[in-house]
Amino acid sequence: APPAVTLGNRFARELPELAVPWQAAATPDPRLLVLDERLAGELGLDPAWLRGPDGVRLLVGADVPDGATPVAQAYAGHQFGGYSPRLGDGRALLLGELVDAGGHVRDLHLKGSGRTPFARGGDGLAAVGPMLREYVVSRAMHALGIPTTRSLAVVATGRPVRRETMLPGAVLARVAGSHLRVGSFQYARATNDADLLRRLADHAIDRHHPAAAQAERPYLALFEAVVAAQAALVARWMLVGFVHGVMNTDNMTISGETIDYGPCAFMEAHDPAAVFSSIDNGGRYAYGNQPVVAQWNLARLAESLLPLIHDDEERAVALAMESLAGFRSRYDAEWSAGMRAKLGLPTDPGPASAAPLVDGLPALMQADQVDHTSFFRALAVAARGDGEPVRRLFADLPAVDDWLARWRALRPDADAMDRVNPVYIPRNHLVEEALAAAAEDDLGELHRLLDAVTGPYDERTGLERYAAPAPPDFGRYRTFCGT
Ligand code: AMP
Ligand code: MG
Ligand code: MG
Repeated sequence: APPAVTLGNRFARELPELAVPWQAAATPDPRLLVLDERLAGELGLDPAWLRGPDGVRLLVGADVPDGATPVAQAYAGHQFGGYSPRLGDGRALLLGELVDAGGHVRDLHLKGSGRTPFARGGDGLAAVGPMLREYVVSRAMHALGIPTTRSLAVVATGRPVRRETMLPGAVLARVAGSHLRVGSFQYARATNDADLLRRLADHAIDRHHPAAAQAERPYLALFEAVVAAQAALVARWMLVGFVHGVMNTDNMTISGETIDYGPCAFMEAHDPAAVFSSIDNGGRYAYGNQPVVAQWNLARLAESLLPLIHDDEERAVALAMESLAGFRSRYDAEWSAGMRAKLGLPTDPGPASAAPLVDGLPALMQADQVDHTSFFRALAVAARGDGEPVRRLFADLPAVDDWLARWRALRPDADAMDRVNPVYIPRNHLVEEALAAAAEDDLGELHRLLDAVTGPYDERTGLERYAAPAPPDFGRYRTFCGT
């Protein structure tokens, strides 16, 4: 084992009821495909060492440092509204905790590392394509400044995975503030072990929301901190046009980081009903539903925390309901401030005339199926005096001209707009193209796409195709869970 890497086992020690010690499956022929060297540096890991045989053995869980206790984490969850009392890491392992260069504790976690006691019917494995997809999208999200789990590396295992066809297998190494989920609390609550629930809440407070420890009601303050973090997170998704796709309670973190890039996608034509997941028939997790779903999930967290909030259940419910009701106002404030920034307006509420302008914009974009990302960059061009790029995106010119006139009267700041509106996002057709090439062992396109999306605000010549919507023949985009 590498002497240079120290992995803590705090989660395993403090919460053994939620931690099943386990080992990664053997990896016949590991081959590093991609590595985030910047992240490695943040974690105090030498990229050159990680690329070598010992580093790669760490990245697939074949070697773990002395003192580490890799575990599969237990959690429950509501999946599409239906409760499963026992989900857990079926194909993942928490290797342990690292302390990063900033002194923060970070989980090092593997996905695709073999069956665990939570695998049920699953094979415990992951294919190269979906793990590279999580790698690209999570790097893009981080570059956009959106809280997210990070992808450190993807290693091809040399082991084939049976899906509809045989596919090459991979392990993703990812890093997060923690992997605590709403589903972790649902699981602890369902054990009826009050001490376990309290230890979990204390662990979460200490790692993510330490100010809550000083509050009059620490566990209510924990809940409010999660409400605030999720309201801010989902507002960021909405502003950038991100559709998570599988907002089950086991895929919602306590830290406020985006987690589990399965069927996610960036919307092109602005549409509240945008759904990409092949299994989301009812549109439960559609773009426009995300704030409501987040609040629904937080209600499940509140239910789990009730015994800690107050001894009197009725009182606990009243307190939790009041805090939960704060989600909508927090979300609305985050979204409005974010939208004002995207429009080049001061982020404080500013002139009253800005509110109808901001609130009316989504309907205008939806009516003409305007490309969400292109619109805001074109709008900065309009702020500099040339309205044509914006007008070309619309069919209803009187409507957009009226909106533009009212907006220009507020004197938008074009340079400020270009600092918050990305020109490059991981567009679906580009991701598919890069993954298809990677499947043929050509990682060139993947690296070009990564170059574009990890510098999302900085428009560069030669990268025009990364800024353009999918060609019409790309058709309707479908994504898949758990592959
Ligand atoms: P996800 O949709 O990725 O959030 O996964 C939901 C649940 O299914 C989690 O408990 C996963 O660990 C489990 N799971 C997904 N895919 C597999 C697989 N191939 N093998 C075992 N468990 C899996
Ligand atoms: Mg999950
Ligand atoms: Mg998963």
